[in-house]
Amino acid sequence: MSTFQDLGLNDELLQAITDLGFVTPSEVQSKAIPILLASETDLVALAQTGTGKTAAFGFPMLQKIDFDSRTTQGLILSPTRELCLQITNEMKAYGKYCKGLNVVAVYGGSSITDQAREVKRGAQIIVATPGRIKDMISRGLVDISKIQYSVLDEADEMLNMGFKEDITDILSNTPEDKNTWLFSATMPKEVATIAKKFMKNPQEITVGNKNESTSNVTHEYYLVNSRDRYDALKRLADANPDIFSVVFCRTKRDTQKVAEQLIEDGYSAGALHGDLSQNQRDLVMNSFRKNQIQMLVATDVAARGIDVDDITHVINYQLPDETETYTHRSGRTGRAGKTGVSMVIVSKSEVRKIKSIERIIKRDFVKKEIPNGMEICE
Ligand code: ADP
Ligand code: MG
Repeated sequence: MSTFQDLGLNDELLQAITDLGFVTPSEVQSKAIPILLASETDLVALAQTGTGKTAAFGFPMLQKIDFDSRTTQGLILSPTRELCLQITNEMKAYGKYCKGLNVVAVYGGSSITDQAREVKRGAQIIVATPGRIKDMISRGLVDISKIQYSVLDEADEMLNMGFKEDITDILSNTPEDKNTWLFSATMPKEVATIAKKFMKNPQEITVGNKNESTSNVTHEYYLVNSRDRYDALKRLADANPDIFSVVFCRTKRDTQKVAEQLIEDGYSAGALHGDLSQNQRDLVMNSFRKNQIQMLVATDVAARGIDVDDITHVINYQLPDETETYTHRSGRTGRAGKTGVSMVIVSKSEVRKIKSIERIIKRDFVKKEIPNGMEICE
């Protein structure tokens, strides 16, 4: 088993790693870090959520960047504002002993002039959502013409969200000879196309089997009448008083409705979706992170990639349309070797979807009864 020293990381990073309590590199880290440190290369890395991808690109980027210079040398693109902030905080923690390091987050829903001012102060690394940085480029508020390392994080999700043109546009403003590191949980055709278009002979790594990260997650489903969905949710919460969970709904409207109803019924809950202001989203995320909220009711887009420790349960209040989305959802729990439960509330007409999810995740669901809920169980 390799250590972080073996991977060739410098003392500043090793010290931060000790502070963070990381003992051994994760698989994607032990594969990606030596490649990225040893050569100037493009890279495609496939690894599920929760496998430590941020450090896999973050450590090499921090080691390679010149902190004496105030030029923007590293650009990390990520799909959502929350992820942008999360990556920025991680990069600051990883780089806490890198003297002169300046990482700036650039994302929508927050003052563009403030962000531009921070960038102008000399950001060596910018972590951005595609929409906002594209806007800043077109207004001349950032200069990415000296970028040496660009990261496409959660590439599959960025493309799912329709950022293909923005990404194309942004990358066309960066130097030809930069390196691009693409990280993705899955490799749909669109990701392969982007890789082909923007990368030169990328090295490729794949981590574990596709389902490894969900292997310590138990999958359960509860069959109820459609109209009893909300009741079922309450009873699941009652039966698990220490629950710390993300409750996934399909639409922003349902998300808001379920969260409001839970709060009204005396549960500790909050809503996270795209119709809230950035300030509201930050507030709810902070309370959730601090365990002040037990149930974060969220849409898939808003909760994508969010890394909060110790989530005990993922509740699928409604199943997603895409089976792949289920994998992302259940990956919110059972992280870093811990166990977790992914619960699905289904009505009779949706039961067949459970079968198709089982085929994809190669795991069986356990059929369970709603606690104290005989009369609402099908
Ligand atoms: P991903 O981007 O693959 O979803 P993250 O980079 O968000 O994963 O990492 C998931 C969690 O694991 C984070 O809380 C991170 O701090 C932690 N982590 C990353 N690498 C290690 C490691 N080598 N040892 C222990 N914890 C780690
Ligand atoms: Mg990530």
